[in-house]
Amino acid sequence: MSESLDPFEISQKQLLNACKLIGYDHQIYETLSEPERFIEVKITIKMDDGSLKTFKGFRSQYNSARGPMKGGIRWHSKESASLVKALSAWMTWKTACVDIPLGGAKGGIICNPKEMSYSELERLARSYIRQIADFIGPNIDVPAPDVYTNPQIMAWMLDEYEKIVRKHSPSVITGKPLPLGGSAGRTIATAKGGVYCIREAAKDIGLRLDGARVVIQGFGNAGSWAAKILLDDFNCKIIAVSDISTGIYSNDGLNIKKLREWASKGNYLKDYKEEKYEFITNDQLLELECDVLIPAALENVITKKNVQDINCKIVAELANGPTTPAADEVLFEKDILVIPDLLCNAGGVTVSYFEMVQGYYHYFWTENEVFAALDRVMTNAYRQTVDQSNRYNTHNRMGAYMIALERVVDAMKLRGWL
Ligand code: NAD
Repeated sequence: MSESLDPFEISQKQLLNACKLIGYDHQIYETLSEPERFIEVKITIKMDDGSLKTFKGFRSQYNSARGPMKGGIRWHSKESASLVKALSAWMTWKTACVDIPLGGAKGGIICNPKEMSYSELERLARSYIRQIADFIGPNIDVPAPDVYTNPQIMAWMLDEYEKIVRKHSPSVITGKPLPLGGSAGRTIATAKGGVYCIREAAKDIGLRLDGARVVIQGFGNAGSWAAKILLDDFNCKIIAVSDISTGIYSNDGLNIKKLREWASKGNYLKDYKEEKYEFITNDQLLELECDVLIPAALENVITKKNVQDINCKIVAELANGPTTPAADEVLFEKDILVIPDLLCNAGGVTVSYFEMVQGYYHYFWTENEVFAALDRVMTNAYRQTVDQSNRYNTHNRMGAYMIALERVVDAMKLRGWL
């Protein structure tokens, strides 16, 4: 039977499995299997050539029992209602798994930002916020960047929101530039949080990170920072990385500094010239023999089709939804330690939460203070996840789901929602 790759169906299946394992009745699953609110908006903007163009945008507000909802805004040509809903569900479980007092949401616009000018991007950002302003707020729902959105886009969105409410409201959005109330360390927080988990996982399986072979799919914000931190702080050997255009491999390890410089100028890896490096496909990259495999691009890359060929000791999911439920079972049987997305990439939302807190108080922390607090949150969450998985003899994804689900359900019961 072919497996479903529909992200929302996958997230529902994961939820159902976690409900069954905890022993919740079906009503709890049904209550939690759809967002509290799903908003679809039409955004029409004037393009630079004077023409009008209409885009479709979404905001999915999944669950607010534990606090204001939180989640990024993705601008992608393959954005869809199903993906936004799934990502909002994962945000709910993520904030609960790392135990920060927030719910889950996600937004998106179907567009190709790479084909748009700077001023068109600004008009799109401002129009989107005008469409959803009634439904967001520092104590309601707080957006942030995700794939192909960045601090500048957050700055425009903040400004538009503040014009509408006619007051400063920095905690309505996170991932802002530093001068507008961003947090130190936010840009690298996702990678940093993932690396704290990898450090703990390596201790658990007795893997020496010094010289460990690392493969990374996706060389954007999450992936390229992870490469840099693993190299600089742990002396790992990054043997392969990829972007949408190609994978690039060297058994002796890649020069991450040069590759980051190349990618940061908007260049594709396929155009990078270095004799000693070999070009490989993204599919080949996933099957390389290595110690740590880091999917850091998009969803559904480890599936029934290729899971038997995954050849690593740790899978650290910086991407959201990279592994399908069927592949999860096989990785568990193969004794590969998976650090699930809910946990592994929660560093971003955790520092976003720190940014909200700093915004409430108008008092800002140093980068060292941010990372020390992040390390505590991530290390605790990692330990709790592994303990829960061991207790139920299940894989870490189920362990993380069970912890998160129990926290959300407890909050809902206390509120009288269940
Ligand atoms: P990004 O846009 O900075 O980088 C994405 C990278 O993936 C790019 O190198 C791109 O070329 C590559 N890519 C895109 N499609 C690909 C494909 N089909 N095959 C291979 N590579 C492909 O995005 P990002 O912020 O680094 O996010 C990457 C993943 O991490 C996403 O799943 C995102 O939801 C997740 N994530 C990011 C953050 C964060 O703070 N940046 C936080 C949590 C989760």
